[in-house]
Amino acid sequence: MNVSKILSGWKNYLSKSEVTEAIATERAALCAACPHAKQGKLLAFVKDTLKEVEGAYCNQCGCPLSAKIRSNDICPINKW
Ligand code: SF4
Repeated sequence: MNVSKILSGWKNYLSKSEVTEAIATERAALCAACPHAKQGKLLAFVKDTLKEVEGAYCNQCGCPLSAKIRSNDICPINKW
């Protein structure tokens, strides 16, 4: 897992850029249909604090999907 890419993903998530939201929506649909998308415990920013929460993550890279789909990261199996 590349922490700087994940932090970039959270930054985009929190700033909600329209361009990244359009791309994120397309990526979210691909992840939703992917068998590597799992539910479990992951690190997330909650009110500016990094906490362990329950959420969706990619089991190929371990990244939280809500941040990954908004980052400059790539899908590890080239779905997007
Ligand atoms: S990032 Fe790629 S491998 Fe991971 S859940 Fe999404 S589509 Fe699947």
